[in-house]
Amino acid sequence: MPRHAETPPLAPVRAREIGAAAERGSTETLPPLSLYAHLPWCLSKCPYCDFNSHALTAPLDERAYIRALIADLDADLAAGADCFQGRALCSVFIGGGTPNLFGAASIAELLREVRARIPFTPSCEITIEANPGAGHADLRGFRNAGVNRLSLGAQSFDDAMLARLGRAHSAADIVQTAAAARRAGFDNLNLDLMFGLPGQTPEQGLADVRRALALAPEHLSWYQLTIEPNTLFHARPPALPDDDSVWRLQCAATELLHRRGYRRYEVSAYALTKGALKKTCRHNLNYWRFGDYLGIGAGAHGKWTRPGAVVRTRKHRNPARYIRLARAGRCRVETRAVAGADLLFEFALNALRLTDGFRASLFHRRTGLDAGLLERRLAPLIRRGLVERRGAPGRLRYAATPLGARFLDDVLVEILPESQPLDSATTSSYAQSAGVAPRAVAVAPVKLPAPRNL
Ligand code: SF4
Repeated sequence: MPRHAETPPLAPVRAREIGAAAERGSTETLPPLSLYAHLPWCLSKCPYCDFNSHALTAPLDERAYIRALIADLDADLAAGADCFQGRALCSVFIGGGTPNLFGAASIAELLREVRARIPFTPSCEITIEANPGAGHADLRGFRNAGVNRLSLGAQSFDDAMLARLGRAHSAADIVQTAAAARRAGFDNLNLDLMFGLPGQTPEQGLADVRRALALAPEHLSWYQLTIEPNTLFHARPPALPDDDSVWRLQCAATELLHRRGYRRYEVSAYALTKGALKKTCRHNLNYWRFGDYLGIGAGAHGKWTRPGAVVRTRKHRNPARYIRLARAGRCRVETRAVAGADLLFEFALNALRLTDGFRASLFHRRTGLDAGLLERRLAPLIRRGLVERRGAPGRLRYAATPLGARFLDDVLVEILPESQPLDSATTSSYAQSAGVAPRAVAVAPVKLPAPRNL
């Protein structure tokens, strides 16, 4: 077990690398604050999944875990009192794992205890992830507890494919759970859907997208299956469709989604857009815009902006040990200040995923680094047509071009600190510590014409 670091002193960040705003540490200049709570158990382990999720082999002690989460939060709030004072949560994301293995009373207790410690903004987005057919069907209870967004792990509507993916539900379960969510009063529904599945033809992939659209979700996370280390699929890789086939599917599906009113705003995220109404995921947007978040739960990561530094936190991964350590106020195994060169990369890793990119001024506000530094790192990519610069001086924006979005890893390798060769382990490690889910960052093979959220 890694030695626990209770509240190690922060490594000083060179003053030149820190903007005046960050040094002042005023709450007015701090980024929006979110909270991610990780509930790490599932009915079974899917063969492609490299998340910190564990098949449930014994009765779930919900109370013990919820208490551990709260103790974990208390320790974070005490350690980061200098940066959390006076701030409110703009979003809460209860993810996993399969959080709907927990009952509504536990989720209500979690939200009540969090709210007693840190206020929620009036429009706070509160998401819970759920898997169809798993555990509690008390979606109304979740809604009554204050959850206002449901993210359903559909993955496919093809029963044979679901079986191949080791999913513990059927297509009918997805349809029934989505209908139950609507009856329970959820008007903000996300579906997670995968493509590039073993043996999947473009027609089958498109049929999945059509089935998802028939449920009229407000948001669709449509992402490509990637084979990650430490998974069953990595040990025994299935035959995946070739690049041409995946490309044809992506073109056809993207066009269909746009025709049906879903605007792609991130590599894998599509939001239903009607006039001014745009159902983007606020929580994930806060990650991608390099906002702050508390991360509680086994293996959870956090990012805090405190006077003079951007800090990453990480919690112990093993659920049983996590519970014991959290009760003793010692589950945080890492608290480290991010160095300047890493800051630039971590910011780009997130913000270049956004279709509209980001403003240079946001880069400065979030990292404290000079925007000129970013311009120098991006200039070669701009010359190669992978990144574009838009807007007048003072209002400059950067975004990946359609070509850059297709080969985002190639773009990121140019920005990576020189000491770090980019391979999947590096990307994954950066992605996890930078708050991007590995399955969402592994975009090298994704060949979308032009383009989310823990
Ligand atoms: S993919 Fe989802 S349901 Fe499957 S093991 Fe991972 S977290 Fe659990």
